[in-house]
Amino acid sequence: MNELFPTGPASPYRVLARKYRPVTFAELVGQDALVRTLTNAIKTGRIAHAFVLTGVRGIGKTTTARIIARALNCVGPDGKGGPTIEPCGVCEHCTQIAQDRHVDVIEMDAASRTGVDDIRDLIEGVQYRPVRARYKVYIIDEVHMLSKNAFNALLKTLEEPPEHVKFVFATTELRKVPITVLSRCQRFDLRRLDREQLAQHLSGIAAKENARIAPDAIALLARAADGSVRDGLSLLDRAIAESDPKAEISAEQVRGMLGLADRGQTLDLFEAVMKGAVAEALALARDLYRAGADPLTLVQDLLEVTHGITRLKLVAEQAAADLSASEAARAKPLAEKLSVPVLSRAWQILLKGVSEVQLAPQPMNALEMLLVRLAYVADLPTPGEIVARLESERAGNGALGTTVAGASGPSPSPRTASPAPSTSRSRATWP
Ligand SMILES: [Zn+2]
Repeated sequence: MNELFPTGPASPYRVLARKYRPVTFAELVGQDALVRTLTNAIKTGRIAHAFVLTGVRGIGKTTTARIIARALNCVGPDGKGGPTIEPCGVCEHCTQIAQDRHVDVIEMDAASRTGVDDIRDLIEGVQYRPVRARYKVYIIDEVHMLSKNAFNALLKTLEEPPEHVKFVFATTELRKVPITVLSRCQRFDLRRLDREQLAQHLSGIAAKENARIAPDAIALLARAADGSVRDGLSLLDRAIAESDPKAEISAEQVRGMLGLADRGQTLDLFEAVMKGAVAEALALARDLYRAGADPLTLVQDLLEVTHGITRLKLVAEQAAADLSASEAARAKPLAEKLSVPVLSRAWQILLKGVSEVQLAPQPMNALEMLLVRLAYVADLPTPGEIVARLESERAGNGALGTTVAGASGPSPSPRTASPAPSTSRSRATWP
């Protein structure tokens, strides 16, 4: 999504994601396991011939690949150092790799060069010694995109790699990389940052940029970035660009920028739907829409609310930690009223609603239809409740014949303690 973001009025301006791209392992947030393993490997001199870095888009795979290239090739400020977990950043190798112009660090994007000929060209170079550096490092991004023949060609080299060659593969889809290739690589799973880590990172960078931004605004950015540092920084970039440099950036502004609804209003909407108040729900949704909330984001927010409330029901303490005090105060009564089967049914309907809203020519209309469906279904007994009712009736009058009528009788559902919905939804009006 970062391609869409304006990079500011002045041409020499560098986007934050590039400006703060980590060049050392220490700057790589949240990837401690990788750093630990690599430190040991370098200390003991058992450096793998090939690495595969996997993780979601924007997590820093190519950035990490370049840091590995530096770590392997750094010679230190005096030109005498060996491979190090703390590349110096000043030697010719460190600087040239950082500028993407090192002759022995070859980057290839497998997404655009998938064929066996591309790999042959690359492999041909493998036999020649590095020009200047200790190792020739081949960085192949999106490696899962290689064709079968290309993988086979690569495999021959991986089976007997020359001493002076290292491969660093990056992929978002590890499952598409043949096991024969994977088994010859040291694998690193780049972790998605949790919200707190990302929020901390973002506020650190905001401070370096002299941008004042409210903590709950940062929290919203971290939530929207969903674990990706790159997305988080792009969003922060945009928030800074769109705001008055003298004022603090508020949660309100960020919400507007992201097309997010206020969390309290989302809870209102959820509550209205789940108690079957269709008119109220539709009015709330319209209000949110008019205030700039995106229909798809609204569905996603409702999903998140459903998930949060379910967690609150089942693992109360952990779940409460994810919520602000005011959110928790609102969500707790809902968690008490709604049963797990009702919540999980709501989840399924909403999840299906995501693609419906995405595909609809009028997303808002699709959202409204989704809310209507959810409200009506919320009032129906769950299969478990029907079975319980049948059983109690069977025990009550000892006959099976009369049980069917029970399905349209008053609901004994523990789902909601509130009075019957104002909008009548008796079975008579809805055959
Ligand atoms: Zn160096």
